[in-house]
Amino acid sequence: MRYILFDIDGTLTADGDGGGAGSAALNHACRDLFGKENGFDSIQKAGKTDLIILKEGFALHGVPYTPENAQAFRDRYLYYLARFVNEDGKRAHSLPGAAELLDALRERADDVAFGLLTGNWSDGARIKLGSVGLAHYFFSNGTRPLGAFGEDAPTRPDLVPIAWKRFRERYGRDAEPGDTAIVGDTPRDIEAAKANGAAAIGVTTGPYSRAQLEAAGADVVLDGIADTQAVLRVLLGGGK
Ligand SMILES: [Mg+2]
Repeated sequence: MRYILFDIDGTLTADGDGGGAGSAALNHACRDLFGKENGFDSIQKAGKTDLIILKEGFALHGVPYTPENAQAFRDRYLYYLARFVNEDGKRAHSLPGAAELLDALRERADDVAFGLLTGNWSDGARIKLGSVGLAHYFFSNGTRPLGAFGEDAPTRPDLVPIAWKRFRERYGRDAEPGDTAIVGDTPRDIEAAKANGAAAIGVTTGPYSRAQLEAAGADVVLDGIADTQAVLRVLLGGGK
């Protein structure tokens, strides 16, 4: 069995001309709760978990990171995220080939399992993917989504063992590092794969270049996921 884990932002989806709904939602929650405009603009977000982004934002504005404060912020963020992605279609779009690739993987369900490895909270992941028609590949009613999410661990390398645990719970067999490929657009995705012995597949559809992803240790760097057959060869061939 092959196990494939996908990042979301910059890998399956990209921001539209109106900017990222996630960043806008963080700023709006910050304005509502902390009274600061554009309060999360200076925080570098690519590849970080929502938890770390939140903690950095709280520290920047001198707000104590308590469970109550975090919950209030998270609720506000999710409210705005859902509003922004649904109110106009240009906030995000799926990247070319995303649906075709996921269809192709689903057709191989006998020997391929796939899920998400994302810093987004699962609720945010569902909202973002739902807005571009990709949620149904990962979320279905009554089943826990495969993969790992922003609420599961503070940093990406720690998400990988959690994703393996969920594969094991679903399929009843252990996922091995050598059977796993992690696809993402930032050095943090690459580091998460390398730290766990999985194949690291970089894509240049996010903010980082081929050279930066190779420097981070990517086994393979692709221009994106548009060429379904070429991506499948990499993902199913062990990422070499
Ligand atoms: Mg990303």
